[in-house]
Amino acid sequence: MKILLLMKTVPDTTNAKIDPETNNLIRDGVKTIINPSDLCGLKFALNVKEQVDEDVEISVLTMGPPSAEKFLRECIQMGAEEAYLLEGLEFKGSDTIATSYALSEAAKSIGDFDIIFAGDQTMDGDTGQVGSQVAENLGMNQVTYITDINYVDGEYEVKRNIGEGVETVKIKAPFVATALKGSVNKPSKFALKRSKIAKEKEIHDLTAESVGLDLDKIGQKGSLTIVKDLSAPEKSETGIIIDEGSAEENVNKMIDILVGKKLLV
Ligand SMILES: Cc1cc2nc3c(=O)[nH]c(=O)nc-3n(C[C@H](O)[C@H](O)[C@H](O)COP(=O)(O)OP(=O)(O)OC[C@H]3O[C@@H](n4cnc5c(N)ncnc54)[C@H](O)[C@@H]3O)c2cc1C
Repeated sequence: MKILLLMKTVPDTTNAKIDPETNNLIRDGVKTIINPSDLCGLKFALNVKEQVDEDVEISVLTMGPPSAEKFLRECIQMGAEEAYLLEGLEFKGSDTIATSYALSEAAKSIGDFDIIFAGDQTMDGDTGQVGSQVAENLGMNQVTYITDINYVDGEYEVKRNIGEGVETVKIKAPFVATALKGSVNKPSKFALKRSKIAKEKEIHDLTAESVGLDLDKIGQKGSLTIVKDLSAPEKSETGIIIDEGSAEENVNKMIDILVGKKLLV
C-alpha cells in the first residue's frame, strides 16, 4: 500500500509582510517550518500504517526551494520512507491551479497512491484549495477537514469537522484526505530514533522536465490568479476606559464620545 503526503514549508509567522511592488509574500529572512496541518496529515498516515495488515510505504512530496530538503528529512525522521523535492525556477509565480497541476503530475510520476494526505490549508497562502484540486486532477474521491481516521474492515472511517459538528464518513481507497490543523498531536522527531536514516536517505529530485510538465501550465504563465491588491487588515480601535472622574462625569464623557462618533444624537 502506498501513501503520499503533500507537504509545504511555510514561514513561521502570522505577521507575514507583503512586497508592495509584487503583492507577494516576502519570505526572505523568516524562519521556515513544516505547515502545521501537513504534520497532522503525516500523523494520520502513520496511524493508518499501524492499523492495516500490509506493508505501507509513506512518501512525502513538496514543491518548493532546495532548502525544503531539510524538512523532507524531518518527515523521514518522523516515519516517512521516501521523499521527493519538486523544484526549479519554472515554478516561480505559480498560483494554486499551477501548483496543484504540478503536484498532481509529480504524484502520477511517482506511482499510484491509495491515500494522499494534505493539510487543510497553509499558514501563508491560506487558500485551502490544493488538496481538493489535486483530488480533482487525479480523479480521486476526497474527504476534507479530517480530525481522525481508522481502518475498519477494508474501508476507512473518517471523522470530519463540519463546523456545527463532527461528521463520520466511510470511504474506500483510493482517496485524498485533508487534515485539519490541530486535530491530532504532531508526530515526534525523536520517537522513532531515525535521525541517522533521515540524514543519509536519498532525496529524490524532480523537475518540470523529469515529470514531463507542460511549461504553459506552471509558473506565472500557468497561473489564472491575478493579485490586484493586497493590504494588511485595518487595526480595530482598542477600548477606552473611562474611570478617572465621578460617575456623572464619566457618563457625560461617554456620551460626548458616542455623539462625536455619531453613534448617539
Ligand atoms: C499570483 C501568485 C503568485 C505566487 N507566486 C509564488 C512564488 O513565486 N513562490 C511561492 O512559494 N508561492 C507563490 N505563490 C503562492 C502559491 O501559489 C501557493 O503557496 C500555492 O499555490 C499553495 O497554495 P496555498 O499555500 O494556499 O495552499 P493550500 O491550498 O492552503 O494548501 C493545502 C495543502 O496543500 C498542500 N500543498 C500546498 N502547496 C504545496 C506545495 N508547494 N508542495 C506540497 N504540498 C503543498 C499542503 O498539504 C497544504 O497543507 C503565488 C500565489 C499567487 C496567487
